[in-house]
Amino acid sequence: MKNNLQELDKKYIIPTYGRNYTNFVSGKNATLKDDKGNDYIDFTSGIGVVSVGHANDKVSKAICDQVSSITHISNLYVIEPQAKCAQRIVSLSGYDMQCFFANSGAESNEGAIKIARKYGEIEGETKRYKIITLDQSFHGRTITALKATGQEVMHNYFGPFPDGFTYASDIDAIEGMIDDHTVAVMIELVQGEGGVQPLDKTKVQALSKMLKSRDILLIVDEVQTGVYRTGEFLASNVYEITPDIITLAKGLGGGVPIGVVMTSKKEVLTPGDHGSTFGGNYLSTAASNTVMDILSELKDSGELDRTFIKFEAKLEEVFSNNRNLFTSSVGFGLMRGLRVKNAETLANIIKATHDKGLLMLKAGRNTLRFLPPLTISDEEIIEGFKRLDEALSSL
Ligand SMILES: *Cc1c(COP(=O)(O)O)cnc(C)c1O
Repeated sequence: MKNNLQELDKKYIIPTYGRNYTNFVSGKNATLKDDKGNDYIDFTSGIGVVSVGHANDKVSKAICDQVSSITHISNLYVIEPQAKCAQRIVSLSGYDMQCFFANSGAESNEGAIKIARKYGEIEGETKRYKIITLDQSFHGRTITALKATGQEVMHNYFGPFPDGFTYASDIDAIEGMIDDHTVAVMIELVQGEGGVQPLDKTKVQALSKMLKSRDILLIVDEVQTGVYRTGEFLASNVYEITPDIITLAKGLGGGVPIGVVMTSKKEVLTPGDHGSTFGGNYLSTAASNTVMDILSELKDSGELDRTFIKFEAKLEEVFSNNRNLFTSSVGFGLMRGLRVKNAETLANIIKATHDKGLLMLKAGRNTLRFLPPLTISDEEIIEGFKRLDEALSSL
């Protein structure tokens, strides 16, 4: 069976991923089972997507209830769960914004870039279109989001790219790069793919203030940091800033594809400027509403913060017991990483953890990345770190 599946995959799927061929067949919260009956603790949550765990009862029920009455009707009609989803996102964020629904992170960032570009066209004397992003950032895989991504290795092939993207080596370098054509700065507050690298809060606040004074938009890509991953609904709340445009995706739908771009510049896009066939349909927004119910309750009850503390205690223990392998501990909330001394050791760790029944991710800057479901139980935390210990001692 396994061999057949592997053959099928190799024969019919375009090989863009370095794939592992474990065949997962079911899951519950942060625990997965493969077709041989082996169990795995999931410290990846499907790259930050399954924020409320696998096979969450409430989300499954919300999805089933929704699709048994209506799944899709198109954005030419008002969609009740979509309107409620937008209201929920805006109210949890605390910002005075409106939402546009897309289906992925990259697509949400495309929306953000379109809002900024149009703003630069209609506001002010000179047309402004340039967007500054950071080195080692990640903003997605569409041609424009890829160009916005500040990793030159990703710009091999696929050109010519859209003009107007430049990369600052770090946050301090942004101000010096601004010219008369700059319309926006786009950042992740904690770079995810780039190695779980948080920006300095004081510097971000100063940047935000400087950009406001110059009428340059601040776009915060919260595709990975958003929806309680870093402790508040948005990392922008943690950093106590008010961006002009924010994008969300990964954790928002609990596994159902959804993305959103939200902005306080409500007057910029007008009918015909942007659209999406699938974006914000009944299925994805009904799922998302339930995800937000679950997570906001988890936060308000204090349970989420208790989980953070337990996870961090275990993480710091592994870090201090293995200083021969790890050089630093990075990130916060349930977006964490341990920097590994070299790439080869990191690859060996990922393989060893898999063999011991623990799923882990890597990220840039040789980072072993921890991105578990926000609902992970104490038992799953303990078991996951036990397996990590076993994997590290097997190296
Ligand atoms: C994952 C990610 C994206 C891309 O999201 P897709 O849904 O894969 O298009 C964009 N920005 C950040 C910060 C991400 O982590």
